[in-house]
Amino acid sequence: MIPYGRQDISQDDIDAVVSVLKSDFLTQGPMVPRFEERVAEHVGAQRALAVNSATSALHIACAALGLGPGDCLWTSPVTFVASANCGLYCGADVDFVDIDPRTYNLCPIALERKLQEAELEGRLPKIVVAVHLCGQPCDMKAIHELSQRFGFRIVEDASHAIGGKYRGQFIGSCQYSDITVFSFHPVKIITTAEGGMALTNDVTLADKMELLRSHGITRDSDKMTHEPDGPWYYQQVDLGFNYRMTELQAALGLSQMDRLGEFVERRHELARRYNELLEGLPLRTPWQHPDSYSGLHLYVIRLKLDQIRKTHREVFEGLREAGIGVNLHYIPVHTQPYYQNLGFQHGDFPESECYYREAISLPMFQGLTNAQQDEAVEALKKVVLS
Ligand SMILES: *Cc1c(COP(=O)(O)O)cnc(C)c1O
Repeated sequence: MIPYGRQDISQDDIDAVVSVLKSDFLTQGPMVPRFEERVAEHVGAQRALAVNSATSALHIACAALGLGPGDCLWTSPVTFVASANCGLYCGADVDFVDIDPRTYNLCPIALERKLQEAELEGRLPKIVVAVHLCGQPCDMKAIHELSQRFGFRIVEDASHAIGGKYRGQFIGSCQYSDITVFSFHPVKIITTAEGGMALTNDVTLADKMELLRSHGITRDSDKMTHEPDGPWYYQQVDLGFNYRMTELQAALGLSQMDRLGEFVERRHELARRYNELLEGLPLRTPWQHPDSYSGLHLYVIRLKLDQIRKTHREVFEGLREAGIGVNLHYIPVHTQPYYQNLGFQHGDFPESECYYREAISLPMFQGLTNAQQDEAVEALKKVVLS
């Protein structure tokens, strides 16, 4: 089976991890800060906090921004559940904004409309999580303008987007947001096995996230309520978690950063090949906004079902039977049973649900060979044209 995504591990990556295993520190050593500095410098952000997953990063991002009971977090329905769950972890309510039919990202026009209604009803969101689906950045300038007008904070869920650019700047620079989050799960662009990172230009937010990452405990006497009792002393000044990244993960991430540019270029090369090879088929290839350079985590096609003699499911199953490990990103979050129990219904976000009825993610990863890609395209042709 050709998977839809797969990590790319070099001998240098392996050597980097092995050398940590032979060192003094498996956790809380020098590699995590080095990895943080490397990513922060690369994307042009002031501070970076490495954690054990993007889910954890989203949680401490929301908590640092003060999200709590009585507040509301909005995001796109077409995302992994973690983009919404982070609001629930903080005791806040979650709501969604439908997607733009061209980019599949949260639609700024729908956002503006919903904000106007929410303002009248006195229930404006505290945070909007902008998810860069497939690696293509959201319209951050428009979302940022709305945040100034309506007074909400912005978290970019850039789990798909490291290495991509928005208006010439690397995603993660937080030019139009408070905090940006990356994921280093193996299917994503670079990996640390499990892992994530929160980036920000706001020192206060960074310090707060640093506390929350490790039990709310500080060893910095400046942050304590009184002079240390002695050299052993630490203080718990907040209720935090154990969301720390290990040295092994950080060493892997640091080594993977050497090839980030190469990884994203290869993804673009594969996307260009797909665009050409799929021309004329009854499906829509991804649209790329001219202002942005996608991280291209995913290559999602949408079937033109009125021109195909098969259902979406039959096409999907046909591809899997042919050994092509296609996937579907994502089941709209508001249609998940947990969210239905919170009151959401099918039909609430029609663009997202329409997307779900047509979308298929084709294989897209650094190590995908042209021959494997050709095999996937041939299988797809056979399935949709018969
Ligand atoms: C993968 C992903 C996450 C969660 O990442 P983890 O590192 O697995 O916690 C969150 N949001 C989006 C959009 C993702 O794709």
